[in-house]
Order: sequence, then C-alpha cells, then structure tokens
Amino acid sequence: MPEIKLQCRCGKVRGLVSDFSPHRSTRTICHCDDCQTYAGQFPEDSGILDEFGGSDIVQLTPAQVTITQGMDQLRCLRLTRKGLYRWYADCCKTPIANTVSSKFAFVGLMHNALTINGPLDACLGPVNFYIQGKSAKAQRPGQKVYAGLPAAWFLGSVSWLLPAIIKGKHKPSPFFNSDGKPPVKPEILQA
Ligand SMILES: [Zn+2]
Ligand SMILES: [Zn+2]
Repeated sequence: MPEIKLQCRCGKVRGLVSDFSPHRSTRTICHCDDCQTYAGQFPEDSGILDEFGGSDIVQLTPAQVTITQGMDQLRCLRLTRKGLYRWYADCCKTPIANTVSSKFAFVGLMHNALTINGPLDACLGPVNFYIQGKSAKAQRPGQKVYAGLPAAWFLGSVSWLLPAIIKGKHKPSPFFNSDGKPPVKPEILQA
C-alpha cells in the first residue's frame, strides 16, 4: 500500500500519505473526552465519532504526510494551551490530523480525511487498539477496550515509532514549518 489520498469533504484540501504500511503505523480508536469534545466542534453529520464515541485514527510519521492543495484552508485548534495540535480544513470543517509537537515523529490522521474505497480494514489493516474506554458512550461488545492509554499501545507502536524518532521523521511536516512553528496560529478553545 504505497499511497493513500487525503481529502477534506469539499475537496479544497488534498494531500497524500506516502509509503503507508499497516506494519509501520498504529490504528487506534480513541474514546477520550478530548477527542469527543473536538468532534463536537464539527457539524453533527460529520461522522467523526462512531456509536461508542470513538474516533478512528491512523498514527504514523509526519514525514509521510504532504498537503498538496489547500494549505490556506488549514486551521489548528487546541482544546487547551497544552493540548494536541488538532488540524482541520476550514472550508468544510473536516478534521484532518492531530499532532503532539513539532519535535515528535507522530501524527494521527482522522479517518474522515482518508480517501479509501471499500472497507477501511482492507486498506489500513485492523484496528490495533481501542483506548480510553472509560470515556466511551457505550460498551463495545466483543472487543478488548483499554480503560486508558495502555503500555501495550507504546509497546505495539515502538517498532515504527522508535526508528522514526531516531531518523528524524518529525519533518518535513505540513503541520510545522522548518523553524518548528505551526503555519497558522492555533486557536485555543479554553484559554
Ligand atoms: Zn473542504
Ligand atoms: Zn482521544
């Protein structure tokens, strides 16, 4: 799976995920309060959350992500001053990606922004972790759901994340300029 297309709902923002492999990424469904609060900022029909309040997120390295069109529509929301940098397309309010910092080789791509024909599992591989189940809207039957962010998540991600950190795959990033500053000033929800 070499390449996945990124696109907002209206198509103004487009991008690519290069060199994708389910073995060098972690697919996580997060039920945390922050992800649910963030989803609440978007129109109700956005389909960000599943029926359990989970966000389907593919985690990989910023160096794999390029925005090819519509950078001027990119906006950033942080729930608090220290919150994740959560990127979305302003044109049609599509959440795109979450980043931790300019120096961390990690980005979580929101499933809404991935252009995939057919079932997500066939392209992305199965969900690796269901986390933050303590905030889920309902119990997810038949799945192992961790109450918080488990050590297993780190152990399961270290095989790609550690080499990515060593190789400096935090850049280039569409979400941070070469000086480490975000290309647009983040808006802070609760200042
Ligand atoms: Zn759009
Ligand atoms: Zn979350």
